[in-house]
Amino acid sequence: MNSTPQGGPSLPQQRKLVTEIPGPKSRELLERRQRSVARGLSHVLPVFVAAAGGGVVVDVDGNSLIDFGSGIAVTTVGNSADLVVDRVTEQVSQFTHTCFMVAPYAGYVEVCEQLNKLTPGDHDKRSALFNSGAEAVENAVKIARHATGRDAVVVFDHAYHGRTNLTMAMTAKNMPYKEGFGPFAGEVYRMPMAYPFRWPGGPDKCAAEALDVITGLIHAQVGEENVAAVVIEPIQGEGGFIVPPDGFLPGLATFCRANGILFIADEIQSGFCRTGDWFACDHEHVVPDLVTTAKGIAGGLPLAGVTGRAEMMDAVHPGGLGGTYGGNPVACAAALGAIDTMLKEDLPAGARVIETLMLPRLQALAATHPVIGDVRGRGAMLAVELIRPGTLEPDAAAAAKVAKACHSEGMITLTCGTYGNVLRFLPPLVISQALLDEGMCILEDAFARL
Ligand SMILES: *Cc1c(COP(=O)(O)O)cnc(C)c1O
Repeated sequence: MNSTPQGGPSLPQQRKLVTEIPGPKSRELLERRQRSVARGLSHVLPVFVAAAGGGVVVDVDGNSLIDFGSGIAVTTVGNSADLVVDRVTEQVSQFTHTCFMVAPYAGYVEVCEQLNKLTPGDHDKRSALFNSGAEAVENAVKIARHATGRDAVVVFDHAYHGRTNLTMAMTAKNMPYKEGFGPFAGEVYRMPMAYPFRWPGGPDKCAAEALDVITGLIHAQVGEENVAAVVIEPIQGEGGFIVPPDGFLPGLATFCRANGILFIADEIQSGFCRTGDWFACDHEHVVPDLVTTAKGIAGGLPLAGVTGRAEMMDAVHPGGLGGTYGGNPVACAAALGAIDTMLKEDLPAGARVIETLMLPRLQALAATHPVIGDVRGRGAMLAVELIRPGTLEPDAAAAAKVAKACHSEGMITLTCGTYGNVLRFLPPLVISQALLDEGMCILEDAFARL
């Protein structure tokens, strides 16, 4: 392929393999990469991208791969979605940066208005914009500490909140996120997670028992009056797509309210239509005090937000929040294009259709392959957890094998989980049913050959 293919939704929606994976051009770039890019950055799939759109990623060798990853739940509206490209193109030719703290612009305000409208609850809200998910989480903690005058932050087993110093402390998994990077920020307390598949008392008792254990530990080890915030992913992402049992999140929110603790939902991975609702908290009508967003918010441009109750957000003095690039005008334009797409195409419904097509097939796969211990998730945030049959022992090697088999057949799929034994599926919500079906066939074949 000599000319660079045009990306976006008009890209042919087909899987096509013309070389081995990775092909010769990707391998050449990989060699240059090894000489120039730090080793600490690794790749799921070492193909270099030339274009992407809809449900496919096209590499520099001309291979067209089915995308079940969305760049880790980011390109929810697809790559180079029409409305994102239009608004970004317009904005980039008008101005690229003034710094919102120097001279503001309407796009920032419009994104905040949308966040205030779309996040759970109809109370008075305010938002602030940042560059990355980790930065949003850091700022949510800053705001919670300022608003409450308390220090302690409660997080959970299997949590993932980012790679900055405070968010490393909040993240559960050592390797690869924390190993050798300490010392970590203080006043972070970790609680057991309501993880139905692995709860000792079984899934039916998980919600009530987990709430008992957690509230007991907070009382005994931290003291409710010292806790600024409980921070939780309503469906855990990197930690293994762990869906807490019904009743757990509402119970936790009630406990927080009763004790003057802010309930912060980290919706960075689960938000923006991914789970079949606008936000995962909507499923049980949980209304967090603060919500962090990023990933799916801007069709792939770097943007993140903290949205919350007006009186808590506004507790911080003028100048206490900000950053040079936070809410960059081009990223804001992208977010407005992405949100417009989600509204116009009713992408929460799109995620529910994906669940309807994929979940029964994953369940059928589990029925015939005892290596699959659990099938879980909501909307287009689905996963299977692999174990040694008949035990709870994680089988990370099997997950890696299946993922690799999918990659070599031209399908991008990701793993996750504290034990690395979870295969997760995050297709763009605009993927065609034909590609979704073909991707599922590839996955089924990979399990058959395991
Ligand atoms: C990805 C992620 C983050 C960190 O976001 P970055 O943009 O990578 O800093 C935080 N929380 C959750 C739940 C995430 O999935």
